[in-house]
Amino acid sequence: MVRSRVTIDLTAVRDNVRRLREIVAPASVWVVVKADGYGHGAIDVGRAAIAAGAEVLCVATVGEGQALRDALGRDPRVLVLGPTCPAEQRVARESLLELALLADGPVPEGIAVHLKLDTGMGRWGLSELIAPEREVVGLMTHFASSEADEAFTRRQLDAFLAAAAAHPTIPRHVANSAAALGYPDTRLEAVRCGIAVYGIDPYGVDAATHGLRPVLGWESFVARVAQLRPGESTGYGRRFVAGELTWIAQVPVGYADGFRRDLTGARVLVGDDLCDVVGAVSMDTMAVRLVARCEPGTPVTLVGRGVTLEQHAVVAETIAYELACGVRSGATRATRTVVE
Ligand SMILES: *Cc1c(COP(=O)(O)O)cnc(C)c1O
Repeated sequence: MVRSRVTIDLTAVRDNVRRLREIVAPASVWVVVKADGYGHGAIDVGRAAIAAGAEVLCVATVGEGQALRDALGRDPRVLVLGPTCPAEQRVARESLLELALLADGPVPEGIAVHLKLDTGMGRWGLSELIAPEREVVGLMTHFASSEADEAFTRRQLDAFLAAAAAHPTIPRHVANSAAALGYPDTRLEAVRCGIAVYGIDPYGVDAATHGLRPVLGWESFVARVAQLRPGESTGYGRRFVAGELTWIAQVPVGYADGFRRDLTGARVLVGDDLCDVVGAVSMDTMAVRLVARCEPGTPVTLVGRGVTLEQHAVVAETIAYELACGVRSGATRATRTVVE
């Protein structure tokens, strides 16, 4: 039996992309697959997104862009959102990548660029939209707090629109998922959606309210069932001590698999019962307090069937983006199954 299994549902990717296209029409949807598709697999997600009508795939690095180009062929447009160094320009050119121009300096030759204006993110971006040259194919900015701060988002949008007005023929794209869903006037010619495509709510609540559903599922099983007597504990540091007779299941997934150590208290499904993760999560195993004794081999749903990364993120005091990027699959950890 495998320790755990990550399932990537490409039908959900396609449905989410179609749903986003409906929501933002007539703007087009560009899909962000940086960081290996937020841990979901950039090539699988990218291919599904294009099949569902995404017009551009966005990545963070030239290396990520090159990998997509090699896997997906010449057709899809691929935009590198992150900073690049001059040494990468040859590869960018050969791989037909488009680059975001984020800092003052010469425009690279023979490469289509998008001018990125810093309107308040305070990270990367030009201080003004320099006079477009022939290979400028987009104008962009990025919001610092579109999931939380409406006034600041509006200020950023207004600054961008004022600067972009000088170049009326160049397509503009500014919205991430939170802006695309929450602020219709940020949609412009295209939106750049990452987290929403994975069926995760950018507002951290419930993606279903936007008609989106999770792409990633993660299942393991009960490897051992044991009863603790009052005063007995499970795991390092004795962080869970039973106050009464308590059935505990050991599940062979730990923080080395991406089930983080700060997920103590998260709820997972054992069979159909919602149960708490108790004690310290170990590197390769965790303990779950059973609501009813069960048999070894009972399926445990870590993510899926109503258990969401958004819920886990609240427990871990982080964002679902970070949890998704951390799920580790491969030859030595979770098996990864892609469902077409
Ligand atoms: C990551 C990223 C996005 C996508 O953000 P989501 O919140 O995942 O939709 C959009 N634009 C830029 C520049 C990004 O870096």
